[in-house]
Amino acid sequence: MKKVAAADVVIFGGGIAGLWLLNRLRQAGLSVLLFESGSLGGGQTHKSQGIIHGGMKYALHGVLTNEARSISDMPAYWKKCLSGKGEIDLSAVPILSAYNYLWAPHKFTSRLTGFLASATLSSKVEALPREHYPTVFQNPGFKGEVFALDEVVIDVPVLVRELVKANQDAVFKIEPLCDEELKFDDQGNLLSATVYMSGKSVEVTAQQFVFTAGAGNEVIIKKLKSHEVAMQRRPLHMVLVKTPFDYPLYAHCLGLGSRPRITVTTHHAQDGSTIWYLGGLLAEDGVGRDSATQIQAARDELRALFPWLDFSAAEFATLMIDRAEPLQKGGLKPESSFTRIIKNMTIAWPTKLALAPKLAEDIMQQLQTNNISPQLFDVRELRSWPMPPLAKPIWEDLFCKNVA
Ligand SMILES: Cc1cc2nc3c(=O)[nH]c(=O)nc-3n(C[C@H](O)[C@H](O)[C@H](O)COP(=O)(O)OP(=O)(O)OC[C@H]3O[C@@H](n4cnc5c(N)ncnc54)[C@H](O)[C@@H]3O)c2cc1C
Repeated sequence: MKKVAAADVVIFGGGIAGLWLLNRLRQAGLSVLLFESGSLGGGQTHKSQGIIHGGMKYALHGVLTNEARSISDMPAYWKKCLSGKGEIDLSAVPILSAYNYLWAPHKFTSRLTGFLASATLSSKVEALPREHYPTVFQNPGFKGEVFALDEVVIDVPVLVRELVKANQDAVFKIEPLCDEELKFDDQGNLLSATVYMSGKSVEVTAQQFVFTAGAGNEVIIKKLKSHEVAMQRRPLHMVLVKTPFDYPLYAHCLGLGSRPRITVTTHHAQDGSTIWYLGGLLAEDGVGRDSATQIQAARDELRALFPWLDFSAAEFATLMIDRAEPLQKGGLKPESSFTRIIKNMTIAWPTKLALAPKLAEDIMQQLQTNNISPQLFDVRELRSWPMPPLAKPIWEDLFCKNVA
């Protein structure tokens, strides 16, 4: 006989989007099951730099864009959660840095300084006296300027662990979902999805199915053949540096254009070593380079930006990763999070870790409009199913291989 399970909402994908939503929906009294085909956080989420952007990265050319506006409330929202007073208690998640910094290797232009000091941004940006610069910039070799941005940087692996903690009975490992296992009615509603694991199968039904599977949303998009939703991938070639010194740095370096020349965050590996994780233009422009060439480009950039530091004993590794997002004209960056309901299916991308709470809020409002209320719950057949593992921090994985 076919084994069955049922919940009010079924989520596919255990990255930040699915896990945040799972917490919020369960708080609202709905029964929820989340299925993950890899490891929890192991998609884009663990590869993120953990910056809770407030939009400054998108205003570096001196103009407040729509993108900057849509994300500007996020730091305050997250800070409330991180202090234990928000919608989700994240008080156990370490804040790696209370500020993200913006530095220029030379003096800022007067136009940009004026913009940063303007009333619109005055609460979000602060010009710093030299004695408050991050330690690495206290060296006399540094001739530039530093601003502090009101954007916290958080420990993403612990964030994922905390979001899973209270929900272990609702999170299940599955083998990659196959579109043939999705059953639809004549109106195009999804009736059920059959999930598999280690030779077992269960047919799952729900009032609403939510796809927060990152790049894995492609399975449902292809199946639906709808014109309402399409996906794009924007690749990055990130660089990790095991540094021979311990300078914690969380900062964007101002380049000539509107995007940061390099973005640095700092993480500590289990063996105590200090890892600089490098993104920004280095990662965007490095997409066509192989790993060795990208490492050389990173070495050159670090030598140019930190001439007083010696990176010759540093170990380097690189990581190719696609950002999975709703398709934009010309492959541009989306301006905010995205959610679309098609029949009883929701397809969603946060587009940024920082926007996961906004995405969850939008989805909850859509569910309310669709009158999704507590009704279904039957998980008996899933009781013996395994939980997906928590993903390992990427530096733990990468410095065992791919080292130059
Ligand atoms: C290098 C990099 C740096 C970034 N830095 C930042 C930053 O500093 N700040 C910020 O705000 N944003 C940042 N981002 C963006 C942010 O990481 C992503 O927007 C966010 O993590 C996406 O979360 P998600 O849950 O949608 O997807 P993912 O984290 O990719 O999660 C999707 C999950 O679904 C699972 N899955 C796939 N297919 C299926 C299936 N069929 N069934 C079940 N499960 C499935 C995957 O295994 C995965 O675990 C960064 C992104 C990258 C790539």
